[in-house]
Amino acid sequence: MKQIWAPWRMRYIMGKKKSGCFFCKNWKDTKDRENYILSRGKSCFIILNIYPYNNGHLMVVPARHVPSLDGLDEKELLELMVLTRKAIKLLKEALHPHGFNVGMNLGEAAGAGVKDHLHLHIVPRWTEDTNFMPVISETKVIPELLRDTYHKLRENLDRF
Ligand SMILES: [Zn+2]
Repeated sequence: MKQIWAPWRMRYIMGKKKSGCFFCKNWKDTKDRENYILSRGKSCFIILNIYPYNNGHLMVVPARHVPSLDGLDEKELLELMVLTRKAIKLLKEALHPHGFNVGMNLGEAAGAGVKDHLHLHIVPRWTEDTNFMPVISETKVIPELLRDTYHKLRENLDRF
């Protein structure tokens, strides 16, 4: 298995954990641009992962604070998938990835960073990932890249 090079994640791993749920906070907040919320549905939203495993790493998150799929009703489950499809379309259009990893880490043992609030990861992949990533690995560069990625993805928001 190839390792994705993401040293800026150390800031997340080593950083102090803020209290309260960050997904709930962002859903209630109105500053979508500052919070990197790309799109809102009725019960779920798409947000950029600010500690990405790869450029364009998105998450689809239900608005309600539930830890597992059992806690969602069918409308929420449907929207979770509809927004997943939308996120993939936006990524294809803006970043032209060669593939995607899509999935959930359910529970701490599975590697969930936020274990109490369900979220689905969408990680775009390029065949040259491992060569490409070290080039952008400087921590300072990442917030700018995130902002660029956010705007690139928003360009096609009305189309999907
Ligand atoms: Zn929450």
